[in-house]
Amino acid sequence: RAKAVQRGSSVVFDESLRADLARGAQLDSELRGALGRGELSLAFQPVVDLVSERIEGAEALLRWTSPQLGVVAPSDFVPVAEDLGLIAPIGAWVVEEVCGTLAAWRDEGVVDGDFSLAVNVSGRQVRPGFAALVADALARHGLPARVLHLEITESVLLDESSCTALALDELLALGTPLLLDDFGTGFSSLSYLHRLPLNGLKIDKSFVDQVSSSGRLRTLVASMLAMAEGLHMSVVAEGVETQEVADTLRGLGCRRAQGYLWARPLPLEEFVALARERRQARSSAPAGPPTTLS
Ligand code: C2E
Ligand code: MG
Ligand code: MG
Ligand code: MG
Repeated sequence: RAKAVQRGSSVVFDESLRADLARGAQLDSELRGALGRGELSLAFQPVVDLVSERIEGAEALLRWTSPQLGVVAPSDFVPVAEDLGLIAPIGAWVVEEVCGTLAAWRDEGVVDGDFSLAVNVSGRQVRPGFAALVADALARHGLPARVLHLEITESVLLDESSCTALALDELLALGTPLLLDDFGTGFSSLSYLHRLPLNGLKIDKSFVDQVSSSGRLRTLVASMLAMAEGLHMSVVAEGVETQEVADTLRGLGCRRAQGYLWARPLPLEEFVALARERRQARSSAPAGPPTTLS
């Protein structure tokens, strides 16, 4: 979309770009009303302990089902929402929805008290006052700050404006763990890890995919794990699709992972069913070996 707009202002402007622009305009206008029409929902992907195979938490991922456009992927509409200034209200809805959902799950015994739910936070949301919005949602739903994880990307840390720095300080003071998403794919130096006491890293899928076949990737992932351990940061490996990769990561000492091997991001009811089933399996066989998740 950005490409079409950019090229549109120069000489290159053919039919396919015209079609792209029309689609972009339709996406814009549909997205403006999506939140109000209740077209947004969340999917939940388990975060699994690689040793016990227990579900330790989950990541909430935004879904948009448009009657006009069908299912639109977050990679297609989140950047548009950011451009249109819609990510703040959408992001506030996500925080509210996640806190309400997690409080209900805790009350109903779907999850235990240590279970954490992670939310993706756009750089545009990292503004003074965002922490107060999060604190308010936590308080209204009776949740301790430690169970809500906030995922930010390296681009947030690259932004050296005082406004972003203040917002990050407010979030750190709040006590919600801050995780660095897509770790390794950004362009920033590691100096922010010295300046900001982040709580964890999520190793990007691009490092995880070939970790079993590439010695170079194994070395890189091992260094990330060593660095995280030294800095008292937790690590989640993202995008684990095969048992071989899971075994390799476990061998390297990685504790947590998420990926299609265990579960895709699931609609709420399916996640609840899975979490209940897993809790039951554990309580009926407390001393037994872990059952496999899939
Ligand atoms: P992310 O936060 O890095 O989320 C992980 C993405 O990897 C998700 O894509 C997830 O479905 C996908 N994934 C997980 N396991 C596997 C696997 O084993 N194989 C493969 N191929 N993919 C896997 P999804 O749901 O399409 O989300 C894409 C991105 O959209 C997210 O990347 C995040 O950056 C953004 N996003 C999602 N929800 C929100 C939200 O509520 N707010 C904001 N600001 N951004 C969001
Ligand atoms: Mg994420
Ligand atoms: Mg990621
Ligand atoms: Mg991402």
